[in-house]
Amino acid sequence: MAWDFSTDPDFECDLAWVREFVDGTVIPLEIAGEGLNQRQLDALWAPFKQQVKERGLWAAHLPPEHGGSGMGQLRLALLQEVLGRSVLAPEIFGCQAPDSGNAELLAAGADEAQARRWLEPLLAGHVRSAFALTEPGNSGSDPTGITTRCERDGDEWVINGRKWFASNSSVADFMIVMAVTDPAAPAHRRAAMLVVPCRHPGVELLRDVGSMHHPYSGDGLMDRIGGHTEVQFSNCRVPLDHMIGAPGDGFVLAQKRLGGGRIHHAMRCLGQAARAFEMMCERAVSRVTQGKPLAKHQMVQDMIAQSHAELEMARLLVLRAAWRMDHSGDYSREARREIALVKFVVPRTLLAIVDRAIQIHGALGYTSDMPLEEMYRTARALRIADGADEVHKQTVARELLRGWVAVEQPSEYLPARRRRAGELFGERVRAIRAATAGDAA
Ligand SMILES: Cc1cc2nc3c(=O)[nH]c(=O)nc-3n(C[C@H](O)[C@H](O)[C@H](O)COP(=O)(O)OP(=O)(O)OC[C@H]3O[C@@H](n4cnc5c(N)ncnc54)[C@H](O)[C@@H]3O)c2cc1C
Repeated sequence: MAWDFSTDPDFECDLAWVREFVDGTVIPLEIAGEGLNQRQLDALWAPFKQQVKERGLWAAHLPPEHGGSGMGQLRLALLQEVLGRSVLAPEIFGCQAPDSGNAELLAAGADEAQARRWLEPLLAGHVRSAFALTEPGNSGSDPTGITTRCERDGDEWVINGRKWFASNSSVADFMIVMAVTDPAAPAHRRAAMLVVPCRHPGVELLRDVGSMHHPYSGDGLMDRIGGHTEVQFSNCRVPLDHMIGAPGDGFVLAQKRLGGGRIHHAMRCLGQAARAFEMMCERAVSRVTQGKPLAKHQMVQDMIAQSHAELEMARLLVLRAAWRMDHSGDYSREARREIALVKFVVPRTLLAIVDRAIQIHGALGYTSDMPLEEMYRTARALRIADGADEVHKQTVARELLRGWVAVEQPSEYLPARRRRAGELFGERVRAIRAATAGDAA
């Protein structure tokens, strides 16, 4: 299959605009919003979201029939790479997690009435959403073990259980909850997805859990996006039409949601890593020690060369995965290995590069006078969120090992290879030896 590394000029033009907009407007906006609550932030951000909509780049991850620009994964990768430079940019471009994944889930599973009710306002940016799968009492790496229950009672579903890390629930309008409809069904047919308003009888938003990103949010609720909410459902009732798809469809819908989301994170990691790399280079040529700039010290050069090499490798992996997704019918199945690969490789690359950037800045890098320490804390989550590294490595290994069969003896076992070589060429080798017997002397 042909490989093409060029980007068409029209899209290059869009990328140049995005780059300027992110660096010149969105990155300063990050700081301008410090200390504001979510309502104030929404008012601050609104005109810039409008600019993105007018430029036709809003919700770019979705196909046009669902209100996105339908640019495909490869172009999306290039766009997300630029957006990744700022943690705020995905919000300003309408493609922030968890809304982006939820929109993909609704686009895949909602009927017309549900799409009108939840997908359209979500895409327009009029509402926020959360996704509640993970439970404090069960391993999120194996969602077949979730225990939050959903039982039918007349015209309603009744939900009971506890979730956490339902990110943004404290400021969202609705959440999509994964709950068990039939505990006796086969493991991947046990659960369903339901839309539940965040402020609703039977829903208790307990706290936004303190984390590496927000260490001091403690026991309360944050009043802005970024909180990881713990939620209790106690006889929470929703009408039957709040279920997306049928009972048992939960895992299929979860895959649709997570496949895209995982690679979007990887794409954005590249942008964060590039920003850290730029800081590293700027400091290396600016700071002098032992009579010369850091950039002239070989160990610093090693860090810079190594970071560049790792970033380029990660970028190629991401672009290849995106290209593969564009050429697959059902990418959540056909590009599963490529997506899993970038999911565990790229966050590690980002962490390594940010770590080196901190090192080159010395004490300054460790302080909150530079964005590097926050970048490091935020990036660390990506080795866990959307599936721990180990789970994705397992997927890659499983896919690679498919088709390999057990053998009694390694194919490369040398005594056996020597025997076989003898059978194939022994006579010829003996003849050559006999003919050239006197030559050696
Ligand atoms: C910042 C952040 C945001 C999140 N947002 C959301 C959200 O919006 N909605 C939501 O539902 N969840 C969310 N999560 C939860 C996330 O999806 C889970 O944390 C993740 O799936 C891992 O589940 P767990 O925490 O229960 O870890 P566990 O499943 O308990 O795993 C713990 C550790 O065990 C190891 N491990 C697990 N499986 C294997 C294996 N097969 N082989 C070897 N080792 C293994 C890994 O080292 C893993 O880190 C978020 C998490 C973070 C950190």
